[in-house]
Amino acid sequence: MKWKQNRTLTERFWDLVDRRADNECWPWLGSHYNNGYGHMYVGTGRTNRRTVPAHKVAYWVGFGEWLEAPIVTRHTCDNRDCVNFVNHLIKGSKKDNMQDAVERGRMPHGKNHYAFKHGKYSKYKEAA
Ligand SMILES: [Zn+2]
Repeated sequence: MKWKQNRTLTERFWDLVDRRADNECWPWLGSHYNNGYGHMYVGTGRTNRRTVPAHKVAYWVGFGEWLEAPIVTRHTCDNRDCVNFVNHLIKGSKKDNMQDAVERGRMPHGKNHYAFKHGKYSKYKEAA
């Protein structure tokens, strides 16, 4: 049977979303990258067919815009699996992402960082 690409990307997207209330996370039901982000195939043929992050597709479905680096689609809910573009996805930069990570304590920083505690960053010690 010949594969027919007769459905739009938007239709295929919704097939793979567990759509819930606007203030909840919408889990991605499709495949995931190793890093936890969902993904789906776009394009057809050997050269065009590729995967894109599900939340990037979500942003496009919601806002009609493909965000390309250094502009990225960001999660306000910190849930990589989430594609809730109504409330949880916003446009941002990679720098914003880093800043968020710091604020949420995922990145080493400040007095709690082991290197600080072990005296490797003396200039931070002096400033503290
Ligand atoms: Zn979410």
